[in-house]
Amino acid sequence: MKIKWHGHSCFEINGTKNIIIDPFLKNNPKATTTEVTPDIIAITHGHADHMGDTTTIAKKHHCKIVAIHEIAKYLATCNIECEGMNKGGTIAIEKINFTMTEAIHSASIEEAEPHFDGGCPAGFIIEDNNTRIYHAGDTALFRDMQLIGELYKPQIAMLPMGGRYTMGPREAAIATSWLQPEIAIPMHYNTFPAIKQSPREFKELIARECNTKVVIMEPGETIEYQNPKNPKNL
Ligand code: ZN
Repeated sequence: MKIKWHGHSCFEINGTKNIIIDPFLKNNPKATTTEVTPDIIAITHGHADHMGDTTTIAKKHHCKIVAIHEIAKYLATCNIECEGMNKGGTIAIEKINFTMTEAIHSASIEEAEPHFDGGCPAGFIIEDNNTRIYHAGDTALFRDMQLIGELYKPQIAMLPMGGRYTMGPREAAIATSWLQPEIAIPMHYNTFPAIKQSPREFKELIARECNTKVVIMEPGETIEYQNPKNPKNL
């Protein structure tokens, strides 16, 4: 499985299919490209830096989309099909399981005029061929991240740590200790001056808390994850 970071909260997960999460590219100062060809788009919430280029990409590539019910209703008004779901539920798209999790944040759809009710913000557990990735969306620290760790046992956690709008490094390090993933990837920092943070601080804090490996990615960088339980590399 390949994981590419486009900066901010936007990741492409290329396993059995190509999934893009929170496709914020065109207006993302850290993104190195706007050319993506996903099979599936997953949206954590309606803010512009997360829904991003969803409508443009969807119209161009006719990919599947998964988001909370209210975002699906909004996309229907743009003639875009979206699999609506809600927290605690799981749906399979192209044999990949998407489970919607809690996130503590706000969620109006900013591209709609006037702003449209975006329901609630969310995170996802994405399971592709026994590899489980937790993308926390935008969120404060909440104790049930421990439950998310126990229930879904994600090998990889993508956690916001820019502060101001989400957790900062300290809270994200505590979240990591509760989730106990093999790998933690910090996100949602240094995109704009308001969320300037040091990923080194996050790494040092985690080294004191647990054995999780912190992978600090550069925007545009791709890493490869080999699930030790999978016989072949996906
Ligand atoms: Zn947000």
